[in-house]
Order: sequence, then C-alpha cells, then structure tokens
Amino acid sequence: MIGVDFGGTRIKIANVEDGQVVDSCSIPTDKTKEPIALLQDIADAIRELDPQPESVGFAIPGEVDPTGRCWRLPNVPGFEGVPMRSELSSILGCPVSVENDGTAAALAEFRFGHGQNYPNFLILTLGTGIGGGVVLDGIPRRGANGFAGELGHIAIHHPDSWPCVCGQTGCLETYIGTAGLKRKFEELGGKASEVRDIADSARAGEAAGLAVFEMMGEVLALGLCSLQNILDVDAFVFTGGISPAFDLIEPSCRKALHEKSFAKPLAEVPLLVSELGDSAGVVGAAYLPSQFAAEA
Ligand SMILES: [Zn+2]
Repeated sequence: MIGVDFGGTRIKIANVEDGQVVDSCSIPTDKTKEPIALLQDIADAIRELDPQPESVGFAIPGEVDPTGRCWRLPNVPGFEGVPMRSELSSILGCPVSVENDGTAAALAEFRFGHGQNYPNFLILTLGTGIGGGVVLDGIPRRGANGFAGELGHIAIHHPDSWPCVCGQTGCLETYIGTAGLKRKFEELGGKASEVRDIADSARAGEAAGLAVFEMMGEVLALGLCSLQNILDVDAFVFTGGISPAFDLIEPSCRKALHEKSFAKPLAEVPLLVSELGDSAGVVGAAYLPSQFAAEA
C-alpha cells in the first residue's frame, strides 16, 4: 500500500507494509504547475515505487469533502474544488483515499502508537499550523462532512487577538503555531529563524525563550480545557516540529489545566508526545483506504 504526505514544500511517497516504510521517495511541491499536472507527477513517482499499487492514501494539509474533493489547501494555491480522489483513482486504476493530514496522523497513532493504549484521544500536530485528529471509542472520526479535528482553529480568549489564515481572529494556531511563537519571542527582544532557536534559548535559561514556552503552555491549556469539556478524552497526543520541545511546554500547560479545568480529572489527562517519528505521515496515509471507504 502507498502513502502520500502532501507537504507545502515536498511531497513524500512511501511503500508501506505492516506499518513500516519499505521504500520511499519525494518530489518538490511545484506550485507553478497546474493541479492535474502535479497529480500526474505524483502518480508517476508512485508507479516508480510500485507499478500496480493495490491502494493509495493521500494526506493533505487542508480540508477534503467526503467525495475526495479538495475544499481548501492554503499552502498550495489552485487545488480548491479539484476532485483529487477521482482524478488520482482514474490515473492509477486503484482505490484512493484523500484526507486531512491530521486525520492521517491520528490513524498512524491509533494503529501503531499511543492509540493502542488510549481508545479516546485527540492528536495535535504542532508546527506552522496546528492540525488535529480525533479518535473516539477506538474509531478514527472524520465528522459529518470530513472536517472534524480542526483543533488549531478553536477560539482562545486572550488579551492579544491575532488574525488567523482561516479568516477568524484569536485561533489557537495564531498563538502557538510557529509564527505565533516567533512573534512572541521577537516582542521579548529575541530573534529566531526556527522554533529550535527559541528552544535553545529556553534550555540556556534565557528569560525570553522560557517566557515563549510558558505562554505556549498556558494558551494550549485553554484549548485543551475546551476540548476536555466537550469530550473528556483518555489522552492528548502531540506530534509535529514543535513537539520535541514539549518538555518546555508541559509545566505551564499542566499548571493552567489545573487552574482552569471544569473538574480535576479533566486536568489530569495524560499529555503524550508521539514516538512514531517522521514517517508517521506517510504510514497513516497508507492506511486511509482500508480505514475509510475508498473509491475504485
Ligand atoms: Zn483559524
């Protein structure tokens, strides 16, 4: 089975068996190409890994409706309205599933990670954007229209209300996505080209770096409190580029959970970092067709 992780700068493609990547390649996300031409390039790369794939799962950093039509793909213009599933399926001649990459991350975690111990969990992908996925009663959920799990776009009551790429203001993502952390760091006199620079500052004991992750923990807790009040899950799982710094985030997050939660058991929910590593995106994607109905 083939998994495709459609990133804003690179598209990773892997042949996956028993949860392991057995062969992989990647191509650049050429934004100058027409969507159909880019899908053709992806199909060509897939065929080099497997001339006759049995199924292809496709994870995108955007929203997809239940027919596999792209609703929104903010980082790759031109894909809105493109029937990605039927186009790829007709090019490749096999079942294809297209889902949000947070759903694919949740599926990888459900099958091969912390989901094996926690039947009700939410995954948050901490990076440029804050994505999410939902598993309830041991079943990965897409929602009525395929849009469930947009955890980065719940509104946070906070004195600074920053605009979000989704058109709203005050979304969780605006504070604790990469841009929000850098903005906070710069407000405090720091300069960072990536989140790792802020983590290095915090680990060196510098006030600016420590304050950024303290803010992140507090704001994240506001989001988790809202989610807990609705779902009372067994665990939250964190993945994505910022998650290696989770040890810097957790103390203020846990403290704020205890201060703001509706009930103590909600505040004591396990906060876990995914151990699946960089291949989780393509592995989760590869299992999309067998998990969700695929169109031949
Ligand atoms: Zn938003």
